[in-house]
Formats: sequence, C-alpha cells, structure tokens
Amino acid sequence: MNSNPMLIKIINVRLVQYRAIRPAEILIEDGFVRFVAAPGGLDAYNEQRCPGIRVIDGKNRYVCHGFIDIHTHGGGGADYMDGTPEAYITAARMHASYGTTGLLPTTLAASREELIRTFEVYEKVKDQKEGARFLGLHLEGPYLSLAQCGAQDLTYIRPPRMEEVRFLVESCPHIRRWTIAPELDCALEMAEYLRLNDITPSIGHSDATYDEVREAVRHGFNHITHLYSACSTITRRGGYRYPGIIESAYLLDELTVEVIADGHHLPAPLLQMVYRFIGPDRTTAVTDSLRGAGMPEGDSILGSLQNGQHVIIEDGVCKMPDRKAFAGSVATTDRLVRNMIHMAGASLAEACDMQTRIAARIIGREDELGVLETGRRADLILFDDHISVSLTMVGGTILFEKEGVSK
Ligand SMILES: [Zn+2]
Repeated sequence: MNSNPMLIKIINVRLVQYRAIRPAEILIEDGFVRFVAAPGGLDAYNEQRCPGIRVIDGKNRYVCHGFIDIHTHGGGGADYMDGTPEAYITAARMHASYGTTGLLPTTLAASREELIRTFEVYEKVKDQKEGARFLGLHLEGPYLSLAQCGAQDLTYIRPPRMEEVRFLVESCPHIRRWTIAPELDCALEMAEYLRLNDITPSIGHSDATYDEVREAVRHGFNHITHLYSACSTITRRGGYRYPGIIESAYLLDELTVEVIADGHHLPAPLLQMVYRFIGPDRTTAVTDSLRGAGMPEGDSILGSLQNGQHVIIEDGVCKMPDRKAFAGSVATTDRLVRNMIHMAGASLAEACDMQTRIAARIIGREDELGVLETGRRADLILFDDHISVSLTMVGGTILFEKEGVSK
C-alpha cells in the first residue's frame, strides 16, 4: 500500500537556477518542493522509510522551474478569444508539452462584450490542472495606436475611457497586465489606476516618442510589449530627430522588455543587442503565439473563430494573407530559450533565468514563481542540452513526459 503517494524524488539532475547550474536532488511533497539538496542529500528518503515514494532518475538532464510565457494568444489550434473553456485548456496543454508551466492568456483588441465573455471563461478555467498554469490575463488592447496596430483589428481599436477601464477592471480581478499606447488621451491616468490595482501597464502598439515614454514611466508604465514589433523608433520632423520606444528601452532602467524570440520576428543581431545592452536582468522572451503553435503549417485564423482574420502559417511563422507582415508567432517556450542561447548569445543558465525568474518578476509574482525552493510549487521541467523538454510537472503532477522518462 502507498503510505506516501504524493512523495516524489528527482535524482541525477543539474539544477538551473539564478543563472547557475549545479548537481541536485529535489523532493516534492503534495505538489510543493520540500527540499532541494546536493547529490545524495535525500538518500534517507527511500522505499524503506517512505514506502510508495516515486523516484525519477533525471539521467543528468537539466531541471529548472518551468518556463513562463507572459504573452501568448493560444496554440494547439485554440485561441483564448474562442470563448470556450476547451480552447483555454487545449492551448495550455499544448504549451505544457514544450516546457511552459505558467502563462498569461492574452486577448486582442475586441469589443467590451467580447472581453467580458473572455473574463467569464477565464473565471471558469482559471484553476484547471490539465495544462500550464494560468497566471492571470494579459489584455493586449484595445487602447492602441492606429499607426502601430500590427495585426490587431482596426474596428476595435479605441482610446481609453476611464469609465470603461474601471468597468473592465471591476468585472475581472484576474487582469495581470495590460498593453496600452501611452500617448493616447487618458492613458497615463489609466496606468496609475492599473498600478493601484496591481496590474502591470505595458507600453505596446505605440508611436510614443522618448519624452512620452519617460512621462509614461513616471505614471507607472514599467514594461515594453514585444520590443521592435509595433514600436516607434527614431523619426525626423523638420530636421530634428525624435527617439522612440526602442531607444527608450535601452536608456530607461525602470523598463523591462519582452522579445518575440521565435527566430523570425527579430534577426540575431537585434536579439544580441537586447541581450548585451538591455541585458538578462530586464529581458524575457515571449511566444506571442497564435492558435497555429504546435499545429501543421497552412491556413489559420488570428483571433476568435467567429470574428478572427485569415492568416497563413509558413516557414515557422504566422503571416498576414498578403505576406507583407507577420501576424504573430507559432513558437513555444523551448524554442525561445534555444534562440536566446544560439541567436542572442545568452548562456543556457541566463536564458532559463529570463524565461523563469525574470518573467515572474515582470508580472509581480517573483515571491511565488520562477525558482525551485522549499515551499514553492513544484512547477518544473526536465530537458537536455538542446532544450528538448522531456518532462513537465505542474503542482507536482506530471502533465507531459517523453516515453519512459520518469521510469
Ligand atoms: Zn500579442
């Protein structure tokens, strides 16, 4: 009989944490990390003393807190705007199988009614245990710049009105971050209000100048949504040059940034600039993935099945039908980490730190998420030198494993 059914010991692993790598063993009890020890340190937790203990031999793989994706629209054929619990779960499951243990479902510019419907579905599925953990919602829009709308639907883009902002925030206690163009009327007031409600205001889809970004930072904006994508840069008016969001990201230490490191949106030299000059302390990578992530290439839909736009997935990225711009990515977090190593030049330990602890910090969850320590939730992954994920555990439950890994 199993007297300790919830005890799991992971041995023969290299723990990647705080930008360092060391051999380790981990004991998990009832879904939480009980001990992280040096090799042999958990020998006393054996079958004799703890009948029913499950031992996982990591065979010298890496173990790390699971990857956190703070900007993703879906995957596995499902989009969070589909408005069904099944869509949420399908996407969360698919991403878990590539190493994501926590994510922020992200909305697109939409009507008030559609946003409210998304909130209602989130409320129903927020505690699901079948895929990556939901860490709150990221609203991308609808308060965006028309000049930098990217693939967002123009019909729904509008300037913020505090009445609507308050209504949305009061309708949903789970909004974690909100992407807004700070140069819009009322956006600064909105940012202050969001900070009071523990929501990260993020600069994105914006044409702001450096001065406007500095002002935005004074009012509480502290993050930049997909740097280089739908972001202003240097413009010239009457001979004078005006720096934009991209230049601000390098200069203003108060700002953190995210990059779509899918290998297509940003070429290697730009990822290298971000890594070297903004640095691993202020940077995380995001998938910004659409429903086509984890799916075969071909036709797909950006946004909801009912109101979405036709897009095409080819060459590992999602394109607008005229192929003149990208509509989003089909990346998974393992690919982000691989690219931050091979394209940006980060070490494996730095890339993992950006995808775990730094991502958690950006969304204000650093005390709960991002590292494996006594008392923390057992959200972890095992992977090899190619960042090929072989096991994903969320809250002590194995959600994904390559055949026989945990035997
Ligand atoms: Zn997005």
